[in-house]
Amino acid sequence: MHSTKHPIAIDDNVATLHLTSFHYGAPGSGKKVYIQAAIHADEVPAMLVAHLLRGRLDRLDAEGRIKGEIILVPAANPLGLSQVMHGAPFGRYDLSTGLNFNRAYRHAAEALKTALAGRLGQDATANVALIRELARREVAAWEPADNAATLKKTLLAMAIDADIVLDLHCDNEALLHMYTGTPLVEAIQPLADLMGARVLLVAKESGGEAFDEACSRLWWDLADHFPDAAIPPSCAAVTVELRGENDVSYALAEHDADAIVQYLAQAGVLDIPARRLPAPQCGPTPLDAVEPLAAPHAGVLVFRKQLGDQVAAGEPIADVVNPVSGQVTPVAASRAGLLFASTAHRHLLRGMHICKVAGAESFRSGNLLSS
Ligand SMILES: [Zn+2]
Repeated sequence: MHSTKHPIAIDDNVATLHLTSFHYGAPGSGKKVYIQAAIHADEVPAMLVAHLLRGRLDRLDAEGRIKGEIILVPAANPLGLSQVMHGAPFGRYDLSTGLNFNRAYRHAAEALKTALAGRLGQDATANVALIRELARREVAAWEPADNAATLKKTLLAMAIDADIVLDLHCDNEALLHMYTGTPLVEAIQPLADLMGARVLLVAKESGGEAFDEACSRLWWDLADHFPDAAIPPSCAAVTVELRGENDVSYALAEHDADAIVQYLAQAGVLDIPARRLPAPQCGPTPLDAVEPLAAPHAGVLVFRKQLGDQVAAGEPIADVVNPVSGQVTPVAASRAGLLFASTAHRHLLRGMHICKVAGAESFRSGNLLSS
């Protein structure tokens, strides 16, 4: 194992920041795995899982059991982690630009469509190698205009040619759930089973250019553009939401780190016995079947349902109680589904996020992720 410090913000007259990555195994000796935690900075469950994962990888490395390359970035956002306002961590958006740290990653497919014209054939292995080479160059050519973009480029440059990308996050309050590409369900379902995910949300394009999709959508965008060439979906990238921001315990983190180690064993990256997969707790759900609910007016948020409850269409999930006007408004989903994520706030202004319900049928379009 060796570690690398990447300069992110290095002007002499202001605070300087570096990103640290840990590198196991050897490039080219097998599959490449990239794992990062907490791109939204104060996603504490993700950082604790990464810490425990590091201990496991150190031991497996010492025993010679790493059959490939694994890069681990245990705290992926030093910029966001340094943002604290009046005692409250503020890690989702870059304060200097207002941009979400998990949006606007460079999508290499457009440039590659031109560069690859006439160069792809029926040899999938050769195609994958060529696409990875050009994708690395495309990310390297990105000229970041600010520190947050430098961070994004640094992270993407480590992940763009990986076979497996695990992007570890958490929600405000949530069941363990995941986001991945529709063509990747077969590759990601074992991870969902091992982690005990309750929802596996899938889309071919979510909108906003999130990190995992910058790594994975490249492949099916190119496959759609070059229908006569053999282009398999060669990067199994997934965003894992490790429950809620206060779900921080050794017991949960040990479970999650063990599940990831097992997944890497199943993928042939770790030379340890692979256990039988546990029974799935969910199958794939279209991301456009998720209904987000928002506050109809300002007030105190009182939940009537709990995370994990199945709710019927029109069934009240929560009330919004305005203590001055006396107005009490029940909030319900328009479609039946599983209540799987909610805000951690209990007083909301009009339009603020309340919760998400995963239904079965697609009904939304456009940008499918929250901002
Ligand atoms: Zn996040």
